[in-house]
Amino acid sequence: MEIAYLNGDWLAPDAAKISIFDRGFMFGDAVYEVLPVYQGRIFTEVPHLERLARSLAEVRIAPPLTMAEWSALLGEAVDRSQEADALIYIQVSRGVSMPRSHVYGDGAPTVLVTVTPFQGPTIETAPQLRVKTAEDFRWLRADIKVTSLIANGMIKNQAIAEGYDDAIMIRDGKVTEGTSSNVFIVKDEVIKTPPKSERLLHGITRDEMIETARELGYSVTESAFGLEEMLAADEVWLSATGLELAPVVGINGEPIGRGEQGPVWREVFEAYQTRKRVIE
Ligand code: PMP
Repeated sequence: MEIAYLNGDWLAPDAAKISIFDRGFMFGDAVYEVLPVYQGRIFTEVPHLERLARSLAEVRIAPPLTMAEWSALLGEAVDRSQEADALIYIQVSRGVSMPRSHVYGDGAPTVLVTVTPFQGPTIETAPQLRVKTAEDFRWLRADIKVTSLIANGMIKNQAIAEGYDDAIMIRDGKVTEGTSSNVFIVKDEVIKTPPKSERLLHGITRDEMIETARELGYSVTESAFGLEEMLAADEVWLSATGLELAPVVGINGEPIGRGEQGPVWREVFEAYQTRKRVIE
């Protein structure tokens, strides 16, 4: 069952209401997280909560809850939802300030948590993505997980309007990330992903896939690459919490490798399926 928590109240998601003067609404002045739940257990909770704390600190929103309080709240949200497999969405905005002003008010942050049923992909249902490349014209703090995703939406929807599934963004000749995912390439069984910087989100799934691939014995390097190197790769993947790991089979109308799911993707994807369901 879908459920929402808003500033202390548990509600049906469509019954949760915020003020029009909430800075999340007025300015996109808010940060967020998306966490996966498998078999009733939150996977990678600690890194997600650490990234949330970092996002809040970067935008100078006072943390509304301690790590232990977040953990207890998310546990209660999952219990109340009675869902085994779900996605948790957290949003913290700077709260209400009135009248509208760029200057921060002193209102308490708005805290929203939702739990939505979700089934992760399988080898059979994983999408085979055909994407385009696009100029990355977002702001230069893409490492902060802010809700202001207008540029990501513009770039993705332009790609869809042109008949693609998504876009991989490029800035200064270097691949940054997907519109809501991180990018990997594979050449001769060596895996590469762009290094962490302020130009891309430090994806939790990215870290998980790096660790999973290394455990399988693959060499993974975090180094920059451009369009040519990506087009010449044997495999290209996108990683994100809901997507997990998805093969990109075509870019700008050109096939990647044989234009189908690759063997390294299959191996890493399958190992991740085991990893996410192991009870620690
Ligand atoms: N980059 C962007 C721009 C994203 O929006 C996301 C997913 N929210 C990711 C990367 C992947 O992050 P994660 O693996 O933590 O879901």
